[in-house]
Amino acid sequence: MAKRVGSHAVVVGSGMAGLLSARVLADWFDHVTVIERDHLPENPEHRHGVPQARHAHFLLAGGRRVLDELYHGLSARLLEEGAVPVRWTADLLGCAEFGWMARKELDGDVQVLASTRWLLDWVVRQRTFALPNVTVRARTEVTGLLARDDGLSVDGVRIRSRAQTATPISDGSESVIRADVVVDAGGRSSQGRKWLRELGLPVPAVSRLDTEQVHATRIYRRPPGAFDEWKALHVFPSPRTRAGACLTPIEGDRWMATLIGYGGGTEPPATPDAFLAFAKTLVTPLLHDTIMGLEPDGPVFGFRRSENIRYHYERLPRRLEGYLVIGDAVCALNPIYAQGMTVAAFSAKVLAKTLAAAEATADLSELTQNFQKSLAKCHDPIWRRAVRQDMAFLAAEQQRPTPMQRMANQYMNRVGRAAFREGGRTQQAYIEVIHMMRRSTSLLAPHIVWQALRSGGTGRLHGP
Ligand SMILES: Cc1cc2nc3c(=O)[nH]c(=O)nc-3n(C[C@H](O)[C@H](O)[C@H](O)COP(=O)(O)OP(=O)(O)OC[C@H]3O[C@@H](n4cnc5c(N)ncnc54)[C@H](O)[C@@H]3O)c2cc1C
Repeated sequence: MAKRVGSHAVVVGSGMAGLLSARVLADWFDHVTVIERDHLPENPEHRHGVPQARHAHFLLAGGRRVLDELYHGLSARLLEEGAVPVRWTADLLGCAEFGWMARKELDGDVQVLASTRWLLDWVVRQRTFALPNVTVRARTEVTGLLARDDGLSVDGVRIRSRAQTATPISDGSESVIRADVVVDAGGRSSQGRKWLRELGLPVPAVSRLDTEQVHATRIYRRPPGAFDEWKALHVFPSPRTRAGACLTPIEGDRWMATLIGYGGGTEPPATPDAFLAFAKTLVTPLLHDTIMGLEPDGPVFGFRRSENIRYHYERLPRRLEGYLVIGDAVCALNPIYAQGMTVAAFSAKVLAKTLAAAEATADLSELTQNFQKSLAKCHDPIWRRAVRQDMAFLAAEQQRPTPMQRMANQYMNRVGRAAFREGGRTQQAYIEVIHMMRRSTSLLAPHIVWQALRSGGTGRLHGP
C-alpha cells in the first residue's frame, strides 16, 4: 500500500529546493502542486526567477549523490545532455595565494558534472514533473497563506496568475488552493515573514553576515583541444587578494568564466574590456590568458546578492502548523562555497525523514516543528563554517571572529595548505569535506592534524 501522510501538498517555487521537495512529497501525498511565478521554458534556458543561474554553479559530489538517489540515472542523463565530468583534483587547476594544488586521481566518485545551472534545473524539472501525482502551475505567484479557523494551521495558499509576457506581470485574477501542507521554497525572495505577519503570527529572527561579494560572468566558445591539460580552473580569493575566479566547462563546447570580488574596491566590472582587465589582476594570469582571444557567447552579467542569511523558523514560539520553509528561503549561504544546491538536497532528505516519522505515528500536528528543528541541526555546522570563514573578509570595524573561530580558521587554512601541497590522504579528506561527502570534524584525524602542523610555510607560486 502507498504510504500516505496527507491528500494535497503545495510547493512554492520550482528552483532546486522546490523540485526536490516535490519529489519527496510525491511519496507521501496523493497530490503535489508546484506553483512557480515564472514562465518555465521547454528547453534548458535561463529564466528570470533564478537570476543567479547566469553565474557558475557546481553541484558538489555530495549533492549529486543525493540527487542520484532521488532520481535514478540523473547523472547519466546530465552527461547525455552535454555536462562535462570534472574529476577533483585530476582535471582541475586550483590556485591559491600560496600556490597551486597538487593534482591527483582521488578515490571514489569525487567529480562534478559541470553544466549551466539551467541545464541541471531542466533535467531535474523534467524528472519531477513526470511523476504522475505532481503538477505544476507556472506563471502563478503565491501571494499569501491561508490559515484554518484555529489560526494556527495552514489551509493552503492565495495565488495570482501572471500574464503571458516574457517578464511576467500580474493580470490581477486571484484565487486560492487548499492544501494540508505548504512547503515554501521561494529562495532568497521568499515572502514567508510577510505572510506570517499578515496572519498575526510571530516571524523568525534573522542571522546575517555579508561580505558584499560581487560576481561577473561571461560565456566563451571553447576551442578544440582545450581539455588537453585541464578542464576547469579555480582561483581562490583570500582576505588579502579579495579577488577570485573560476573557469568551468559547460554544455555546448563552452566555458563559463566567473570573476569574484568584494564591495568597496575589488568588484569585477561588467564591461567586456574591464572584465578581461580584472581577470589579468588575479593571483595567476592563466584565466585571462585562456579566455583572451576566445569568441564570447553573450554579454557580461553581474550579480550582487551573496550574503549569508538565515531565518530561524526553528525558534518560533507559535508556528503555522503545516507551513514548512526550505532551501535559500530559510538558509542562504555565500555562493563562494558552492553549497546551496547540495544543502537543498540534504534538506530534501530531512523532509523525507520527517514525513516518515509523521506517517509512523499518524500524527501531523508537530510536522512543522519537527522539520524546522531537524533542518536547523543540518544547517548548523554548515552555517557556522561559512560565517566563520567569511569573517576573515570583513573590515576591522565590522564583526570580528572570536578567538575560537580564529583558531578554527587557522587550522582549516593549514589543512587546506597541506591538501594543496601533499595530495594523498589529506587531500582526499579535505576535498571530500569541501564536496560535503563527509563532516568537517573528520579533519581532526591524527594523520591530518600532523600534516596540518607541518604545513606552516607559504608555498611558491610555480606554474600549475
Ligand atoms: C552567484 C551565485 C553562484 C552560486 N553558485 C552555486 C554553486 O556553484 N553551487 C551551489 O550548490 N549553489 C550555488 N549557489 C546557490 C544556489 O543558487 C541556491 O542555493 C539555490 O538556487 C537555492 O535553491 P532554491 O530552490 O532555494 O531557490 P531558487 O533557485 O532561487 O528558486 C526559487 C524559486 O521560487 C520562485 N518563487 C519565489 N517566490 C515565489 C512566489 N511567491 N510564488 C511562486 N514562485 C516563487 C522563483 O521564481 C524561483 O523559481 C549560487 C548562488 C549565487 C548567488
